[in-house]
Amino acid sequence: MKLKDKVIVITGASSGIGRATAKLLSNEGAKVVLTARREEKLQELEKEITTKGGKAMSIIGDVTNKEDFEKITKMTLEAWGTIDGLVNNAGFMPLSFIKNLHTDEWNQMIDVNIKGVLNGVAAVLPTMLENKSGHIINIASSAGRKIYPGGAVYCATKAAVRMFSEGLRQELSPTYGINVTSIEPGFVSTELMDTISDDEIKEQLSEMGQMTPLEAEDIAESILYAMSQPRRANINDVYIMPTEQKQ
Ligand code: NAD
Repeated sequence: MKLKDKVIVITGASSGIGRATAKLLSNEGAKVVLTARREEKLQELEKEITTKGGKAMSIIGDVTNKEDFEKITKMTLEAWGTIDGLVNNAGFMPLSFIKNLHTDEWNQMIDVNIKGVLNGVAAVLPTMLENKSGHIINIASSAGRKIYPGGAVYCATKAAVRMFSEGLRQELSPTYGINVTSIEPGFVSTELMDTISDDEIKEQLSEMGQMTPLEAEDIAESILYAMSQPRRANINDVYIMPTEQKQ
């Protein structure tokens, strides 16, 4: 049990990478706080974990809402007394061509992918600073390293998460013993693409070919790897691509 009794908050836990991570960390002994907006899915996951003997608690919350995060922190501390880890996983990827002016989606991506991460950090940091320990995992993306048409805003948000993670590490790790990791996956088979509303992009993606993508479980393994290192070793970035993905 690599994470026995570690209290770990996971955002966007209702599907994909968040859900797979919650299950894997729980198998390794962590007490997982599952947060997302879809109550039914969270409760289903909580039941699945607790039926197997794991410890899980679901709390409804929107990462764009600072007050929701304050509630999540308060309830976690009341129930389990501390917070050892945060997986800032919730994300939104409605790719679109700039000329099509999906401006509401641009703003939503900034709210969820950037401000959501900042809200999460602000909520758990007082506890971690007091403990002089903790681990913050931010799910960025390979899209934070390279740009492609249709991804201008999404890639910009993920580049911001990557840069913020390194800044966070420099400020927190040496002085306060808080580890920080940026996880940067290529294409993972999840619901993420379902949020795309731009028809031109949908058409292009359907022509992308038959690549074997990563599975959410592969990313969960990367998170477990980063979280189960000795405290002296900070895994700064995990950059993981499908073997068959070119760019
Ligand atoms: P997903 O759609 O299954 O999961 C995203 C989760 O975030 C969902 O549970 C969704 O409900 C939640 N979410 C969205 N907005 C929210 C909000 N305002 N408040 C709370 N929860 C919210 O997709 P996924 O692939 O598992 O995505 C997880 C993370 O991985 C995202 O940050 C995504 O950008 C990143 N990522 C995904 C891929 C990929 O190819 N799937 C690649 C690189 C990075």
